[in-house]
Amino acid sequence: MKILVVGSGGREHALAWKLAQSERIQMVYVAPGNGGTARDPRLVNVNITDLHELANFVESEGISLTVVGPETPLAGGIVNLFRARGLKVFGPTKEAAQLESSKDFAKAFMQRHGIPTAKYQTFSEVAQAHAYIDANGAPIVIKADGLAAGKGVVVAMTLEDAHAAVDHMLSDNAFGDAGARIVIEEFLAGEEASFIVMCDGKNILPLATSQDHKRLKDNDEGPNTGGMGAYSPAPIVTPAMHARVMREIINPTIAGMAKDGIVFTGFLYAGLMIDAQGNPRTLEFNCRMGDPETQPIMSRLKTDLVNVMEHAVNGTLDQIELEWDRRTAVGVVLAAAGYPDAPLKGAVIEGIPAETPEAVTFHAGTADVDGQLQVTGGRVLCVVGLGDSVKLAQKTAYEAVDQITFEGMQCRRDIGWRGLKH
Ligand code: ATP
Repeated sequence: MKILVVGSGGREHALAWKLAQSERIQMVYVAPGNGGTARDPRLVNVNITDLHELANFVESEGISLTVVGPETPLAGGIVNLFRARGLKVFGPTKEAAQLESSKDFAKAFMQRHGIPTAKYQTFSEVAQAHAYIDANGAPIVIKADGLAAGKGVVVAMTLEDAHAAVDHMLSDNAFGDAGARIVIEEFLAGEEASFIVMCDGKNILPLATSQDHKRLKDNDEGPNTGGMGAYSPAPIVTPAMHARVMREIINPTIAGMAKDGIVFTGFLYAGLMIDAQGNPRTLEFNCRMGDPETQPIMSRLKTDLVNVMEHAVNGTLDQIELEWDRRTAVGVVLAAAGYPDAPLKGAVIEGIPAETPEAVTFHAGTADVDGQLQVTGGRVLCVVGLGDSVKLAQKTAYEAVDQITFEGMQCRRDIGWRGLKH
């Protein structure tokens, strides 16, 4: 069987890597892929990003199914287009992807269906936004309505920062159309967790839990990033918490979409904030897997992902049970100098250790340039280590990290720290 993975990040490398392990796989194509997928003999990069051309390629190559990694092609309607052409694809339609592509849509949806989330209001007028902030005080959270690659959220600890964020988004037009409307919401305290499920339109299949590390520096300091590391499972999601999140958040979300006339298919990612009393609330939805959460999650999946994907596109996820490696997986992101503001490209990467059953390196912003591996993006690699405890997984991951060099490399040394506390 031939499968196409759409995307070029660490998430897509991890999905393609897992799919390629299946005995049923003849070829895994990655469009456009990265330096790591280019070097893996079981994967083939395809340099196409236009959605119509991709559909042509899938038809001409006889590709059985397509898995979409990132949000942009989903919000652009890749699933609608492929289905209209009779091609099997796993992901949400453009309509369903609004849960991620518009924060105003997601918040109104959650309010309508009684899904626990922070209190909010949406604004497009500067003066009204400032007045709302003055009336509610700080800390408070300002979010660009549209997609902003993880950069459209300001958690303002002071009134001054909150007002500045409003000016930046609404007056200075910092995010263009994506920031023409903003959501201002209540600040929630607690511990975050990533809760990802697969949905085939009828059945819901939860994946292993995980926790991301959004800040650039150790101890959760520095600016927000796309994610500097993740580990799985997240001990804060106990079996009781898992049941509660399914009951209060995931099931009502899928049912709510159906009530609103939208059949949800694809990965649904709920970013949770769990407060000190143990109440989970939804910070955000993503309509895809997380990056870097996918890398540790796929490292722990034992079930054949090709079978899982086949059930997912055929609406039979109820017939499959996922088996997970009992070990913890810790994924450490290595980022380029200057990330997240202005990542420097061109550095030469050396020392990536060969894959072992305990450690694997997934690529993101890399390219193979005349046999040399070079940095091409902000997040460069994600090194995953597996171990019988968070501590052992960390040790394995960092031993591999310490072999890798490139100029200006940045990484956190504390990925998994919350797991150590539990
Ligand atoms: P992503 O890159 O995950 O898609 P995003 O741009 O969609 O990010 P959110 O996930 O909504 O943004 O917010 C980013 C981060 O900001 C969250 O992971 C969380 O740490 C923080 N955050 C968001 N909303 C709140 C809130 N209401 N209270 C406290 N912190 C928040």
